[in-house]
Formats: sequence, structure tokens, C-alpha cells
Amino acid sequence: MRNVVIIGSGPAGYTAAIYAARANLNPLLIEGLQIGGQLSITTDVENFPGFPEGVMGPDLMEAMKKQSARFGTDFLAALVTKVDFSQRPFRLNTDDEEIQAKSVIICSGASARLIGLEAEKKLIGYGVSTCATCDGYFFRGKEIMVIGGGDSALEEATFLTKFACKVTVAHRRDKLRASKIMQDKAFKNPKIDFVWDTVVDDIYDVEARNVRGVKLRNVKNNEVTDFKTDGVFVAIGHEPNTQIFKGQIDMDSNGYIITHDGTKTNVPGVFAAGDVSDVAFKQIIIAMGNGANAALGAFEYLIRNDQTVTQSIAA
Ligand code: NAP
Repeated sequence: MRNVVIIGSGPAGYTAAIYAARANLNPLLIEGLQIGGQLSITTDVENFPGFPEGVMGPDLMEAMKKQSARFGTDFLAALVTKVDFSQRPFRLNTDDEEIQAKSVIICSGASARLIGLEAEKKLIGYGVSTCATCDGYFFRGKEIMVIGGGDSALEEATFLTKFACKVTVAHRRDKLRASKIMQDKAFKNPKIDFVWDTVVDDIYDVEARNVRGVKLRNVKNNEVTDFKTDGVFVAIGHEPNTQIFKGQIDMDSNGYIITHDGTKTNVPGVFAAGDVSDVAFKQIIIAMGNGANAALGAFEYLIRNDQTVTQSIAA
């Protein structure tokens, strides 16, 4: 039986763990399949306060993990496959065990969204990727297409110019969603081109098991063209990782967990922090603020509802 179980090992999860551990709650953090979350596959983080020269995503996550371990967080390298919030203590299942928890902090984050093409699914890992940091290296001297018009797309495109001879960003509108600073950087980069009002309808060549081009469609005049490229990076946003919480907790129509009064969910004792409940911004610093809020919320909840916690903290 745990006082607090934290699901997820991104910035929200580790921050929640640091705060919960420092409150003597001896939290268990279930790390999921990608330890460190999305930042474990990111390069430079330039907007994280305190690092004027930027910091590498994996280094930042490693430091957060060490800090949460220092105060007594337990870690479990496993994936939560099922939860039951209808009974108390709450039940959480991994493939190997059932864990009981007096409170739960959900920090399961969000995953890269795909366009939904059959070819895209079949060519993932064979020239189609959602992670420039992971796969950019394989495209030295090659031509790459990045799909999307947000910060992620421009960040990926800019990063990929380290390897590629040319990066073309295909965006479905004629205006980017990305921040001004990212746009300026991309527009100034001589290796980056844009194709506007354009979607990718197909990726060639599934049979050859590698990417040799895409079928583009201009959404304004429906003109279809073939475009030669050696790789496709899909950067069109993220889906919240909330499949296992369906029916257990209130979510919006896109699957984001609905919170109120900070990080409280509709189930008392269950909190949600980070990208899993952040429809709008998905920023590290916001996720971390949420994580702290959730841990303090769990602490307050346990003090109010569980005499044994009050005694163990006092001891
Ligand atoms: P996003 O802001 O939601 O942008 C997604 C982009 O993909 C949009 O341009 C969207 O087009 C396009 N798109 C969505 N579905 C599509 C589809 N099916 N086919 C073609 N295009 C599609 O997602 P994001 O870029 O991942 O950013 C998410 C959040 O993280 C943002 O708040 C962003 O600022 C933040 N972020 C920050 C940094 C940084 O500061 N370094 C880096 C990455 C992300 P429309 O514009 O037409 O909707």
C-alpha cells in the first residue's frame, strides 16, 4: 500500500516525486516505457530558466530523477496497464503486479500524433519518424520532409538541417502556428524550404520498405504532385496518454484529463499534472509547476483523510 503513486517519468512526474518525497510520503514513481518522457529524446532545451546556454533534454531528466531519488522516491520500471479508481485504496496494475495507492498523480504525458496514412504506419522506422533527435543522424546528406506548422515542426526542421542537405516543411495552411522566434530562425535557415496549403496524401515506397517520395495535395486547388524526399518527419502535435483512464476519470473530447482547483480531478485523491491535462501549452516549466501542485494537493488530501499518514509524517 503506497501513500502516493506517480504515473509517468517526465518533468511533471519527477517534480511531483521530489515534492512528495520531501513531504515524507515515500512516493512510488512508475516510469513507463520511455523513462524521462519526451525530453529523453530531445536535444537542446533553450527556454528552461536557470540555463542561459540551454540544457540537453536527457541531462535535465537524469538530474530530475537523481534529485527525486535523493529524497526517497522508489522507482518501478513498468507500464501501468489498468487502473481502478472506483474503490479505495485505488488499484493500479502493471503486467506483473497490482499496486494499491491512497492517492495517485497521473503524469503520463502525451505522444506524437500521426497523420493516419497506411504507408506512414508501415514505414515508421523505415524513413518515417516522429523524432528528429532519435533518427536525424540517419539522414546525413539526404533530403527530408517535415510535416506540420507548429513549434515542434520548426524545431525538428531546424535540428534536421545539421544532417540533411535540404529540409522541406509541408504545412496545411499558409500561416505557421509556431512562435515568432522559431519562425524567424527557420526562415533564416538556407536549408529550409516551405510548401504551403499542402497535405501529404501518401508516402512512397511501402514495398521497397524505404521512403523515396510523397504525394502532395494543395488543399486550395486540389493539385496533386509527387515530391522526392528520403525521409518524412511527422510533427503535428500530440495525443494525451489517457487510454487506461477512460471511464475512470473525467476527460475532454480529445482525451485530456479535466482538472479543477489546480491539479485535482473529479476523483478525490487523484491528481493530473503536465501534458496529460495541458491542452494549450505543453511546456516543461508548466508541467513541473503542475507536478509540485499535485504533490502538495496529495499531501493535503492524505493529511485530511488518512490518520496513519499524519502519524507517519510526524514520526
Ligand atoms: P501544435 O502547436 O498543436 O501544432 C501542430 C501543427 O501540426 C499545426 O501547425 C497543425 O496545423 C498541424 N497539424 C495538425 N494535425 C495535422 C494533420 N492531420 N495534418 C497536417 N498537419 C496537421 O503542436 P506542436 O508543434 O507539437 O506544439 C505543441 C505545444 O508545445 C505548443 O504549445 C508549442 O509551443 C510547444 N512546443 C514548444 C517548443 C519550444 O518552445 N522549444 C518546441 C515544441 C513544442 P494547423 O496550424 O493548421 O492547426
